[in-house]
Amino acid sequence: MNDWESWYDKNFEETLKGRYINFNSISPLLKHHKNTFRVSSVGKTVLGRPIPMIDLGNGKNKVLIWSQMHGNETTCTKALFDFLKFIEHHKTTESVDRLLSNFHIYIVPILNMDGAHTYTRENANKVDLNRDFQKFSQPESSVLKQVFEKVKPGLCLNMHDQRTIFGVDKKHPATISFLSPAADSMRSITAARRHSMDLIEKMNAVLQAFISNHVGRYDDTFNLNCAGDYFQHAGVPTILFEAGHFPQDYHREITRKYIFLALLALFDLTFIPPKPWKSYHLIPENVKIFRDIIFRNVKVSDINKKIDVLVQYKEVLEDSNIKFNAFIEDVGEFPNLIGHREIDCTNINFQKINKDMIKKGAKLPYIFNKNGEKLTSFS
Ligand SMILES: [Zn+2]
Repeated sequence: MNDWESWYDKNFEETLKGRYINFNSISPLLKHHKNTFRVSSVGKTVLGRPIPMIDLGNGKNKVLIWSQMHGNETTCTKALFDFLKFIEHHKTTESVDRLLSNFHIYIVPILNMDGAHTYTRENANKVDLNRDFQKFSQPESSVLKQVFEKVKPGLCLNMHDQRTIFGVDKKHPATISFLSPAADSMRSITAARRHSMDLIEKMNAVLQAFISNHVGRYDDTFNLNCAGDYFQHAGVPTILFEAGHFPQDYHREITRKYIFLALLALFDLTFIPPKPWKSYHLIPENVKIFRDIIFRNVKVSDINKKIDVLVQYKEVLEDSNIKFNAFIEDVGEFPNLIGHREIDCTNINFQKINKDMIKKGAKLPYIFNKNGEKLTSFS
């Protein structure tokens, strides 16, 4: 399927858009996909919301995929529904037929359904489910463990979003980062870990043709409380997906397309460049080098110095929409950081700005453009 991109641009799952994806958003799709795939409920959340699962194929190779373990990390959920639509559209083709007879894929699209509703990382008990894989104190983490034990997958995909601060280098944000999680504190290359690395190399080989220098490698510090480390430690190859920032794409509609492409590559549904692929360890490790906005050379009336102001957006759920509110993270000199937007204020006279207004944590009432005009959004 080498014309994946033209299919995608016309056919992606457009009923899912933006950052706020919850049960109401996917409910019509679950009903629709019952016609082609199997849809079930695998458990309930703290607040009694059902946790749905979609499964497809009848093959021996079992793959367990979950997204939105963190309720506000929705990009991969969108990509998974793009992937399901692709399979549905191509079910009579030889390549999809082969996939469905070789694989049995289990998808839990939103594990943290309560957090998805409130657009929070944690569940309704304010627990980070990705730190609960020793205690299993929460219904949602227990559900995932039960599904894992029942399915006995040969591969797990643990799908998340990462912050805009991560870069691959000084120019490129980390649009997608992968990790083959550590299986022990020595970070040994176990057979499971090696297999995950091979699959990451394969996906990266395809992604580089479209978003070169936008793929990073996530930090592999071992923490058995995390889902990925737990499953990898149990000997099952596990891959962490971190959907990240692409320039100007705060709604992550471009990133989702490349997560979709990574899934096609993983399941051999698109052209795969011949080996040798770039070694996993040569994929650049994420660096925390970006900020959403950096105002440079800001002249503040009551200190006689020009300073940089770092600004990060915080996403807030308001009337079923995600608003990006800008907050000052820090003030000082930051020559080594890079803004997704850099605003040089050398010639801007902010007459009323004093140092009390640009302190850490302050919410910016407005963003200014390079002419000093007020902008109320980043677009
Ligand atoms: Zn996450």
